[in-house]
Amino acid sequence: MKALVFHRPKKVTLDNVPDPVIERNNDIILKVTSTAICGSDLHIYNGLIPQVRPMIMGHEFMGVVEEVGKDIKHLKRGDRVVVPFPIACGQCYFCEHQLSPHCENSNSNYGPEGGLLREKGAALFGYTDLYGGYSGGQAEYVRVPYANFGPRKIDNSLSDDQVLFLTDIFPTGWSAIDWADLKGGETVAVFGCGPVGVMAMKAAWIKGAKRVIGIDHLNYRMEVAQKSAKAEVINFKEHDPTEIIREMTGGRGADVVVDAVGMEADRTLFDKAAQFVHLEAGTLNALKMAVRAVRRGGVVSVVGVYGTTYDNFPWGQIFDKGLRLVGGQAPVHKYIDELLGLVRDKKVFLDDIISHRLPLDKISEAYHIFNNKEDNCMKVVLKPHG
Ligand code: NAD
Ligand code: ZN
Repeated sequence: MKALVFHRPKKVTLDNVPDPVIERNNDIILKVTSTAICGSDLHIYNGLIPQVRPMIMGHEFMGVVEEVGKDIKHLKRGDRVVVPFPIACGQCYFCEHQLSPHCENSNSNYGPEGGLLREKGAALFGYTDLYGGYSGGQAEYVRVPYANFGPRKIDNSLSDDQVLFLTDIFPTGWSAIDWADLKGGETVAVFGCGPVGVMAMKAAWIKGAKRVIGIDHLNYRMEVAQKSAKAEVINFKEHDPTEIIREMTGGRGADVVVDAVGMEADRTLFDKAAQFVHLEAGTLNALKMAVRAVRRGGVVSVVGVYGTTYDNFPWGQIFDKGLRLVGGQAPVHKYIDELLGLVRDKKVFLDDIISHRLPLDKISEAYHIFNNKEDNCMKVVLKPHG
Protein backbone atom coordinates (compact mmCIF):
# COMPACT_ATOMS: atom_id res chain seq x y z
CA MET A 1 0.00 0.00 0.00
CA LYS A 2 0.93 3.65 -0.12
CA ALA A 3 1.64 5.53 3.10
CA LEU A 4 3.20 8.81 4.20
CA VAL A 5 6.55 7.92 5.77
CA PHE A 6 8.58 10.28 7.99
CA HIS A 7 12.29 9.84 7.22
CA ARG A 8 13.85 12.87 8.88
CA PRO A 9 12.78 16.44 9.66
CA LYS A 10 11.22 18.09 6.57
CA LYS A 11 11.49 14.81 4.62
CA VAL A 12 8.18 12.95 4.41
CA THR A 13 7.39 10.88 1.31
CA LEU A 14 4.57 8.72 0.02
CA ASP A 15 6.19 5.28 -0.07
CA ASN A 16 5.13 1.75 -0.96
CA VAL A 17 5.09 -0.22 2.28
CA PRO A 18 3.70 -3.64 3.33
CA ASP A 19 -0.04 -3.80 4.02
CA PRO A 20 -0.89 -3.89 7.74
CA VAL A 21 -2.09 -7.23 9.12
CA ILE A 22 -4.06 -8.30 12.17
CA GLU A 23 -1.47 -8.83 14.92
CA ARG A 24 -3.75 -9.33 17.90
CA ASN A 25 -7.27 -10.64 18.27
CA ASN A 26 -8.70 -7.24 19.18
CA ASP A 27 -7.22 -5.46 16.14
CA ILE A 28 -9.09 -4.33 13.07
CA ILE A 29 -7.70 -3.30 9.70
CA LEU A 30 -9.27 -0.13 8.38
CA LYS A 31 -9.43 0.99 4.77
CA VAL A 32 -8.79 4.73 5.24
CA THR A 33 -11.33 6.92 3.41
CA SER A 34 -10.26 10.28 4.91
CA THR A 35 -7.25 11.48 6.86
CA ALA A 36 -6.03 14.93 7.90
CA ILE A 37 -2.77 16.63 8.80
CA CYS A 38 -2.65 18.10 12.31
CA GLY A 39 -0.57 20.87 13.87
CA SER A 40 0.79 18.09 16.11
CA ASP A 41 2.23 16.33 13.04
CA LEU A 42 4.23 19.50 12.37
CA HIS A 43 6.19 19.06 15.62
CA ILE A 44 7.54 15.77 14.21
CA TYR A 45 7.92 17.22 10.71
CA ASN A 46 9.96 20.12 12.10
CA GLY A 47 12.07 17.88 14.34
CA LEU A 48 10.81 19.17 17.71
CA ILE A 49 9.60 15.69 18.66
CA PRO A 50 12.35 13.23 17.74
CA GLN A 51 11.99 10.10 15.63
CA VAL A 52 14.91 8.07 14.34
CA ARG A 53 13.55 5.14 12.35
CA PRO A 54 11.14 5.69 9.40
CA MET A 55 7.51 5.80 10.56
CA ILE A 56 4.06 6.06 8.96
CA MET A 57 2.45 9.26 10.28
CA GLY A 58 -1.17 10.29 10.87
CA HIS A 59 -3.52 10.24 13.86
CA GLU A 60 -6.65 11.84 12.37
CA PHE A 61 -8.35 9.26 10.18
CA MET A 62 -11.55 7.32 9.53
CA GLY A 63 -12.56 4.58 7.17
CA VAL A 64 -14.31 1.30 6.49
CA VAL A 65 -13.57 -1.89 8.40
CA GLU A 66 -11.71 -4.27 6.10
CA GLU A 67 -10.91 -7.10 8.49
CA VAL A 68 -11.60 -7.88 12.16
CA GLY A 69 -9.64 -9.88 14.75
CA LYS A 70 -11.29 -12.87 16.49
CA ASP A 71 -12.21 -10.98 19.67
CA ILE A 72 -13.91 -8.01 18.01
CA LYS A 73 -17.47 -7.71 19.28
CA HIS A 74 -19.31 -4.71 17.83
CA LEU A 75 -17.71 -4.23 14.44
CA LYS A 76 -17.83 -6.14 11.19
CA ARG A 77 -16.35 -5.79 7.72
CA GLY A 78 -17.98 -2.85 5.92
CA ASP A 79 -18.77 -0.73 9.02
CA ARG A 80 -17.74 2.94 8.79
CA VAL A 81 -15.87 4.24 11.82
CA VAL A 82 -13.98 7.24 13.23
CA VAL A 83 -11.00 6.47 15.47
CA PRO A 84 -9.82 8.54 18.50
CA PHE A 85 -6.15 9.52 18.22
CA PRO A 86 -4.97 8.12 21.60
CA ILE A 87 -4.56 4.34 21.59
CA ALA A 88 -6.19 3.07 24.77
CA CYS A 89 -7.00 -0.38 26.11
CA GLY A 90 -10.32 0.49 27.76
CA GLN A 91 -9.61 -1.57 30.88
CA CYS A 92 -6.78 -0.05 32.93
CA TYR A 93 -7.06 2.42 35.82
CA PHE A 94 -6.79 5.47 33.55
CA CYS A 95 -9.18 4.18 30.88
CA GLU A 96 -11.71 3.47 33.63
CA HIS A 97 -11.25 7.06 34.83
CA GLN A 98 -11.86 8.44 31.33
CA LEU A 99 -8.25 9.50 30.90
CA SER A 100 -7.43 7.63 27.68
CA PRO A 101 -4.23 9.66 26.92
CA HIS A 102 -2.79 8.05 30.05
CA CYS A 103 -3.69 4.40 29.26
CA GLU A 104 -1.25 2.10 31.03
CA ASN A 105 -1.18 -0.66 28.43
CA SER A 106 -0.82 0.69 24.90
CA ASN A 107 2.70 2.22 25.02
CA SER A 108 5.83 0.13 25.68
CA ASN A 109 7.55 3.44 26.61
CA TYR A 110 4.84 4.23 29.21
CA GLY A 111 5.40 5.32 32.78
CA PRO A 112 4.24 7.64 35.56
CA GLU A 113 7.11 10.14 35.15
CA GLY A 114 6.39 11.92 31.85
CA GLY A 115 10.13 12.47 31.32
CA LEU A 116 11.79 14.08 28.34
CA LEU A 117 12.32 10.85 26.39
CA ARG A 118 11.02 8.15 28.70
CA GLU A 119 7.91 7.17 30.62
CA LYS A 120 5.42 8.91 28.34
CA GLY A 121 1.63 8.52 28.29
CA ALA A 122 -0.59 6.32 26.15
CA ALA A 123 0.44 5.44 22.62
CA LEU A 124 -0.78 7.72 19.84
CA PHE A 125 -1.26 6.70 16.22
CA GLY A 126 1.72 7.58 14.01
CA TYR A 127 3.37 9.67 16.70
CA THR A 128 6.99 8.45 17.16
CA ASP A 129 8.54 5.66 19.18
CA LEU A 130 8.15 7.79 22.32
CA TYR A 131 4.42 7.24 21.92
CA GLY A 132 4.40 3.54 21.15
CA GLY A 133 5.76 3.45 17.59
CA TYR A 134 2.42 2.51 15.98
CA SER A 135 1.91 3.15 12.28
CA GLY A 136 -0.50 6.01 11.58
CA GLY A 137 -3.42 6.55 9.26
CA GLN A 138 -2.00 8.80 6.53
CA ALA A 139 -2.10 5.66 4.44
CA GLU A 140 -4.41 3.48 2.37
CA TYR A 141 -4.85 1.06 5.30
CA VAL A 142 -4.11 1.13 9.02
CA ARG A 143 -4.13 -1.38 11.87
CA VAL A 144 -6.27 -0.21 14.79
CA PRO A 145 -5.44 -1.96 18.08
CA TYR A 146 -7.90 -2.24 21.02
CA ALA A 147 -10.67 -1.83 18.47
CA ASN A 148 -13.42 -2.84 20.91
CA PHE A 149 -12.73 0.44 22.73
CA GLY A 150 -11.71 3.19 20.28
CA PRO A 151 -13.60 3.19 16.95
CA ARG A 152 -17.12 4.67 16.80
CA LYS A 153 -19.61 3.64 14.10
CA ILE A 154 -20.90 6.34 11.76
CA ASP A 155 -24.09 5.94 9.79
CA ASN A 156 -24.27 6.83 6.13
CA SER A 157 -26.37 9.96 6.68
CA LEU A 158 -23.14 11.73 7.75
CA SER A 159 -20.27 12.41 5.33
CA ASP A 160 -16.60 11.82 6.17
CA ASP A 161 -15.95 15.57 6.22
CA GLN A 162 -18.73 16.12 8.77
CA VAL A 163 -17.28 13.69 11.32
CA LEU A 164 -13.52 13.34 10.62
CA PHE A 165 -12.56 15.97 13.20
CA LEU A 166 -14.16 13.92 15.99
CA THR A 167 -10.89 11.93 15.93
CA ASP A 168 -8.92 14.80 17.42
CA ILE A 169 -9.36 18.53 16.95
CA PHE A 170 -13.00 18.97 18.03
CA PRO A 171 -12.58 16.86 21.20
CA THR A 172 -9.32 18.77 21.79
CA GLY A 173 -10.98 22.18 21.54
CA TRP A 174 -13.83 20.81 23.67
CA SER A 175 -11.39 19.57 26.34
CA ALA A 176 -9.86 23.03 26.66
CA ILE A 177 -13.28 24.50 27.40
CA ASP A 178 -14.58 21.60 29.51
CA TRP A 179 -11.50 21.80 31.77
CA ALA A 180 -12.27 25.49 32.39
CA ASP A 181 -15.69 24.59 33.81
CA LEU A 182 -17.75 27.45 32.36
CA LYS A 183 -20.83 28.50 34.30
CA GLY A 184 -22.24 30.61 31.47
CA GLY A 185 -21.55 34.23 30.48
CA GLU A 186 -17.74 34.02 30.36
CA THR A 187 -15.35 35.81 28.02
CA VAL A 188 -13.13 33.18 26.42
CA ALA A 189 -9.97 34.22 24.57
CA VAL A 190 -8.27 31.65 22.36
CA PHE A 191 -4.64 32.09 21.30
CA GLY A 192 -4.26 30.49 17.87
CA CYS A 193 -6.85 30.64 15.09
CA GLY A 194 -5.63 27.35 13.64
CA PRO A 195 -7.86 24.28 13.42
CA VAL A 196 -7.63 23.52 17.14
CA GLY A 197 -8.23 27.12 18.19
CA VAL A 198 -11.32 27.44 16.00
CA MET A 199 -12.71 24.18 17.42
CA ALA A 200 -12.18 25.56 20.96
CA MET A 201 -14.11 28.70 19.93
CA LYS A 202 -17.02 26.59 18.65
CA ALA A 203 -16.99 24.62 21.91
CA ALA A 204 -16.92 27.83 23.98
CA TRP A 205 -20.23 29.06 22.51
CA ILE A 206 -21.90 25.69 23.06
CA LYS A 207 -20.72 25.67 26.68
CA GLY A 208 -22.24 29.12 27.35
CA ALA A 209 -19.56 31.74 26.68
CA LYS A 210 -20.96 35.24 26.06
CA ARG A 211 -17.91 36.51 24.20
CA VAL A 212 -15.29 34.65 22.17
CA ILE A 213 -12.03 36.27 21.08
CA GLY A 214 -9.48 34.72 18.71
CA ILE A 215 -5.84 35.84 18.52
CA ASP A 216 -3.40 35.11 15.65
CA HIS A 217 -1.26 37.02 13.16
CA LEU A 218 -2.44 35.29 9.97
CA ASN A 219 -5.34 37.33 8.66
CA TYR A 220 -6.81 34.50 6.59
CA ARG A 221 -7.05 32.31 9.68
CA MET A 222 -8.55 35.13 11.73
CA GLU A 223 -11.20 35.37 9.01
CA VAL A 224 -11.99 31.68 9.44
CA ALA A 225 -12.37 32.28 13.19
CA GLN A 226 -14.78 35.14 12.47
CA LYS A 227 -16.84 33.27 9.90
CA SER A 228 -16.89 29.76 11.25
CA ALA A 229 -16.80 30.50 15.00
CA LYS A 230 -18.28 34.03 15.22
CA ALA A 231 -15.17 35.20 17.07
CA GLU A 232 -13.96 38.76 17.55
CA VAL A 233 -10.33 38.75 16.48
CA ILE A 234 -7.04 40.42 17.42
CA ASN A 235 -3.84 40.41 15.34
CA PHE A 236 -1.03 40.14 17.92
CA LYS A 237 1.48 41.65 15.51
CA GLU A 238 -0.63 44.82 15.21
CA HIS A 239 -1.91 45.20 18.79
CA ASP A 240 -0.95 43.95 22.22
CA PRO A 241 -3.69 41.36 22.78
CA THR A 242 -3.54 41.76 26.57
CA GLU A 243 -4.31 45.47 26.31
CA ILE A 244 -7.19 44.95 23.87
CA ILE A 245 -8.66 42.12 25.93
CA ARG A 246 -8.48 44.26 29.10
CA GLU A 247 -10.21 47.10 27.29
CA MET A 248 -12.94 44.65 26.30
CA THR A 249 -13.39 43.31 29.86
CA GLY A 250 -13.51 46.31 32.19
CA GLY A 251 -9.73 46.20 32.71
CA ARG A 252 -9.78 42.68 34.17
CA GLY A 253 -8.83 40.24 31.39
CA ALA A 254 -10.60 37.19 29.97
CA ASP A 255 -12.21 34.67 32.33
CA VAL A 256 -10.74 31.78 30.38
CA VAL A 257 -7.77 31.78 28.03
CA VAL A 258 -6.96 28.82 25.79
CA ASP A 259 -3.46 28.23 24.44
CA ALA A 260 -4.13 26.51 21.11
CA VAL A 261 -0.67 27.33 19.79
CA GLY A 262 1.95 25.36 21.70
CA MET A 263 5.71 25.34 21.40
CA GLU A 264 5.88 26.32 17.71
CA ALA A 265 4.53 29.81 18.40
CA ASP A 266 5.84 32.67 16.30
CA ARG A 267 9.46 33.38 17.34
CA THR A 268 12.01 36.15 16.86
CA LEU A 269 15.66 35.34 16.10
CA PHE A 270 16.41 36.21 19.71
CA ASP A 271 13.85 33.62 20.88
CA LYS A 272 15.46 31.03 18.63
CA ALA A 273 18.91 31.73 20.06
CA ALA A 274 17.57 31.58 23.62
CA GLN A 275 15.84 28.29 22.89
CA PHE A 276 19.16 26.88 21.64
CA VAL A 277 21.04 28.05 24.74
CA HIS A 278 18.44 26.61 27.11
CA LEU A 279 18.03 23.31 25.17
CA GLU A 280 14.29 23.95 24.82
CA ALA A 281 12.08 22.66 22.02
CA GLY A 282 10.30 25.77 20.75
CA THR A 283 9.09 28.56 22.97
CA LEU A 284 6.69 29.48 25.79
CA ASN A 285 5.64 32.70 24.01
CA ALA A 286 1.99 31.75 23.54
CA LEU A 287 1.57 30.46 27.08
CA LYS A 288 3.13 33.64 28.45
CA MET A 289 0.69 35.74 26.42
CA ALA A 290 -2.18 33.61 27.76
CA VAL A 291 -1.08 34.14 31.37
CA ARG A 292 -0.97 37.91 30.82
CA ALA A 293 -4.36 38.05 29.12
CA VAL A 294 -6.37 36.05 31.66
CA ARG A 295 -8.09 37.78 34.59
CA ARG A 296 -7.09 37.17 38.20
CA GLY A 297 -8.51 33.87 39.44
CA GLY A 298 -9.15 32.75 35.87
CA VAL A 299 -8.28 29.59 33.97
CA VAL A 300 -5.54 29.02 31.40
CA SER A 301 -6.28 25.87 29.41
CA VAL A 302 -3.35 24.56 27.40
CA VAL A 303 -4.02 22.23 24.50
CA GLY A 304 -1.07 23.46 22.43
CA VAL A 305 1.72 20.89 22.76
CA TYR A 306 4.91 21.57 24.76
CA GLY A 307 7.72 19.01 24.71
CA THR A 308 10.52 19.93 27.12
CA THR A 309 11.25 21.91 30.27
CA TYR A 310 11.25 25.68 29.78
CA ASP A 311 13.23 28.41 31.52
CA ASN A 312 11.51 31.64 32.52
CA PHE A 313 8.24 29.87 33.15
CA PRO A 314 6.01 32.61 34.66
CA TRP A 315 5.18 30.80 37.88
CA GLY A 316 5.37 33.96 40.03
CA GLN A 317 2.76 35.65 37.83
CA ILE A 318 0.53 32.57 37.81
CA PHE A 319 0.74 32.44 41.61
CA ASP A 320 0.09 36.15 42.09
CA LYS A 321 -2.92 36.06 39.78
CA GLY A 322 -4.21 32.91 41.47
CA LEU A 323 -4.74 31.09 38.19
CA ARG A 324 -5.83 27.58 37.46
CA LEU A 325 -3.55 26.08 34.82
CA VAL A 326 -4.63 22.89 33.08
CA GLY A 327 -3.46 21.08 29.97
CA GLY A 328 -2.57 17.89 28.20
CA GLN A 329 -3.59 15.57 25.39
CA ALA A 330 -7.35 15.39 24.88
CA PRO A 331 -9.25 12.46 26.40
CA VAL A 332 -11.05 11.88 23.12
CA HIS A 333 -12.78 8.67 24.25
CA LYS A 334 -14.50 10.58 27.08
CA TYR A 335 -16.19 13.11 24.81
CA ILE A 336 -16.55 11.56 21.38
CA ASP A 337 -20.08 10.10 21.75
CA GLU A 338 -21.51 13.35 23.11
CA LEU A 339 -19.78 15.31 20.34
CA LEU A 340 -20.99 12.93 17.63
CA GLY A 341 -24.48 13.67 18.98
CA LEU A 342 -23.91 17.42 18.57
CA VAL A 343 -22.84 16.89 14.94
CA ARG A 344 -25.78 14.59 14.22
CA ASP A 345 -28.20 17.14 15.75
CA LYS A 346 -26.60 19.93 13.70
CA LYS A 347 -25.66 21.84 16.88
CA VAL A 348 -22.16 22.22 15.44
CA PHE A 349 -20.53 22.06 11.99
CA LEU A 350 -16.92 20.97 11.77
CA ASP A 351 -16.20 20.76 8.05
CA ASP A 352 -16.30 24.51 7.39
CA ILE A 353 -12.61 24.82 8.25
CA ILE A 354 -11.41 22.50 5.46
CA SER A 355 -9.38 24.51 2.95
CA HIS A 356 -7.85 21.68 0.90
CA ARG A 357 -9.24 18.30 -0.20
CA LEU A 358 -6.52 16.31 -1.96
CA PRO A 359 -5.69 12.77 -3.06
CA LEU A 360 -3.13 10.95 -0.89
CA ASP A 361 -0.57 11.34 -3.73
CA LYS A 362 -0.33 15.04 -2.85
CA ILE A 363 0.41 14.57 0.83
CA SER A 364 4.12 15.57 0.83
CA GLU A 365 3.22 18.90 -0.83
CA ALA A 366 0.32 19.22 1.61
CA TYR A 367 2.72 19.00 4.56
CA HIS A 368 4.79 21.74 3.03
CA ILE A 369 1.92 24.18 2.47
CA PHE A 370 0.26 23.44 5.84
CA ASN A 371 3.57 23.92 7.66
CA ASN A 372 4.35 27.17 5.85
CA LYS A 373 0.76 28.42 6.04
CA GLU A 374 0.80 28.92 2.24
CA ASP A 375 -2.17 29.09 -0.13
CA ASN A 376 -4.46 30.14 2.79
CA CYS A 377 -4.10 26.63 4.13
CA MET A 378 -6.25 25.97 7.20
CA LYS A 379 -6.86 22.22 7.22
CA VAL A 380 -6.00 19.57 4.65
CA VAL A 381 -8.09 16.43 4.21
CA LEU A 382 -6.71 13.62 2.05
CA LYS A 383 -8.79 10.93 0.38
CA PRO A 384 -6.60 7.82 -0.08
CA HIS A 385 -9.15 5.97 -2.22
CA GLY A 386 -10.42 8.88 -4.34
P1 NAD B 1 -1.54 25.19 13.55
O1 NAD B 1 -0.06 25.21 13.51
O2 NAD B 1 -2.26 24.99 12.27
O3 NAD B 1 -2.10 26.52 14.22
C1 NAD B 1 -1.41 27.27 15.18
C2 NAD B 1 -1.81 28.73 15.00
O4 NAD B 1 -1.23 29.52 16.03
C3 NAD B 1 -1.36 29.33 13.67
O5 NAD B 1 -2.46 29.89 13.00
C4 NAD B 1 -0.32 30.38 14.09
O6 NAD B 1 -0.28 31.49 13.22
C5 NAD B 1 -0.83 30.77 15.46
N1 NAD B 1 0.16 31.39 16.35
C6 NAD B 1 1.52 31.28 16.36
N2 NAD B 1 2.04 31.98 17.39
C7 NAD B 1 0.99 32.55 18.04
C8 NAD B 1 0.88 33.38 19.20
N3 NAD B 1 1.95 33.75 19.91
N4 NAD B 1 -0.36 33.79 19.58
C9 NAD B 1 -1.47 33.41 18.87
N5 NAD B 1 -1.42 32.62 17.79
C10 NAD B 1 -0.21 32.18 17.39
O7 NAD B 1 -1.90 24.02 14.59
P2 NAD B 1 -3.30 23.35 15.09
O8 NAD B 1 -3.54 22.14 14.28
O9 NAD B 1 -4.37 24.36 15.23
O10 NAD B 1 -2.79 22.88 16.53
C11 NAD B 1 -2.50 23.84 17.53
C12 NAD B 1 -1.76 23.20 18.69
O11 NAD B 1 -2.60 22.21 19.30
C13 NAD B 1 -0.48 22.47 18.29
O12 NAD B 1 0.51 22.65 19.27
C14 NAD B 1 -0.90 21.02 18.28
O13 NAD B 1 0.17 20.13 18.50
C15 NAD B 1 -1.86 21.01 19.44
N6 NAD B 1 -2.79 19.86 19.52
C16 NAD B 1 -2.99 19.35 20.76
C17 NAD B 1 -3.87 18.31 20.94
C18 NAD B 1 -4.13 17.80 22.32
O14 NAD B 1 -4.70 16.74 22.50
N7 NAD B 1 -3.77 18.56 23.35
C19 NAD B 1 -4.54 17.76 19.84
C20 NAD B 1 -4.32 18.33 18.58
C21 NAD B 1 -3.44 19.39 18.43
ZN1 ZN C 1 -3.95 15.94 15.84
